[in-house]
Amino acid sequence: MDVILFGPPGAGKGTQAAAVCEALSIPHVSTGDIFRRHLKEGTPLGLLAKSFMDKGELVPDSVVCDIVASRLAEADCQGGALLDGFPRTVAQAEMLYSWLDGQGREIGTVINLQVEGSMLVPRLSGRRTCLGCGATFHVSHNPPKKLGVCDRCSGDVVQRNDDLEETVRLRLYTYERETAPVLAWLKPKGTVYTIDGSKSIAQVQLAILGALGI
Ligand code: ADP
Ligand code: ADP
Ligand code: ZN
Repeated sequence: MDVILFGPPGAGKGTQAAAVCEALSIPHVSTGDIFRRHLKEGTPLGLLAKSFMDKGELVPDSVVCDIVASRLAEADCQGGALLDGFPRTVAQAEMLYSWLDGQGREIGTVINLQVEGSMLVPRLSGRRTCLGCGATFHVSHNPPKKLGVCDRCSGDVVQRNDDLEETVRLRLYTYERETAPVLAWLKPKGTVYTIDGSKSIAQVQLAILGALGI
């Protein structure tokens, strides 16, 4: 089953992804992680993506859609995948649904993590991310056991460039303008579960697994 984890930057998508993937035995497909991996390797795609990410803007639809379609076509995604951070525009949603349809696949569930706007800036500016595996932490809500060291892979835990407060505000503005309308597009499909993402990490996890019937 393919699942979409939807919500504004800072809603908790990345934090919740691992438990969902484990429970459903499907891979985590995060477009942000894919771009950051390319950037780390210095590929042309990584450099292109960086020019948009640093400004808090979206990478163009044509670029993102090609990457997602080829990722979803890989062997490990044949039983479905968890999409985190995609679709972020109505054009991406249209492409995704028609591509899946062509493959005889469909979105089983959309989990919409709803978090009040005023909580998002403190969450994002306090976020710290592992350079090794992409795991996310928070300076006060979810710190790594050892300062600056990833619990999962012992990699370096740092602040992302685009998590500085000024870029955070631009990203939230981009979300309102381009991504929030995707929810209205998804809702008539009948598979959207809205979850209160302002609760504790453990409570949100329980609610998501409950919505997925696990
Ligand atoms: P997203 O992937 O949706 O942008 P993240 O999962 O990276 O969001 O979470 C953003 C920040 O908020 C991280 O620092 C994370 O540790 C923290 N966070 C996530 N969920 C919660 C929660 N339920 N309560 C408090 N902090 C949270
Ligand atoms: P967050 O965890 O805060 O939601 P992501 O890691 O998902 O952030 O994304 C980081 C950046 O990568 C975005 O601000 C955007 O520039 C780019 N990006 C990620 N996914 C997409 C997408 N589906 N469409 C366009 N740009 C994207
Ligand atoms: Zn790590």
